[in-house]
Amino acid sequence: MGCKFVPAVCSYCGTGCGILFEVIDGKINSTIPLKSHPVNQGKLCIKGWNLHEYINSYMRLKTPLIKEDGTFQKATWDEAINHTATELNRIKQRFGPDSIGVLVSAKITNEENYLAQKFTRAVIGTNNVDHCARL
Ligand code: SF4
Repeated sequence: MGCKFVPAVCSYCGTGCGILFEVIDGKINSTIPLKSHPVNQGKLCIKGWNLHEYINSYMRLKTPLIKEDGTFQKATWDEAINHTATELNRIKQRFGPDSIGVLVSAKITNEENYLAQKFTRAVIGTNNVDHCARL
């Protein structure tokens, strides 16, 4: 049996608490607070303590889905990105850039949120961008 502890950052909110994943035989088994981390100093909220559960959840989406004829079909990342780009372009051309809005998440990094707003403003051409922390 192989056991190791892998440091990471909790992805549930923007606080960024340090955690350790207990990994047994290649599977994440539990989440432990990282005592040396300056943000949480060995403490976690209830979401952080249960971080590993959604990673192993059978309900977790592991592949992109594209809706065809009313039902979701599995797709590759290339297919999903191409489909999204094509549809955003079609909607922008037909209805204008302000017909599109982008909602970003506290579950992604600050840098990813920055890129999302930059993409919204500079590529799509609208200021319709918001964040789940304000919703
Ligand atoms: S442990 Fe709680 S407070 Fe810390 S990052 Fe995760 S969700 Fe946020």
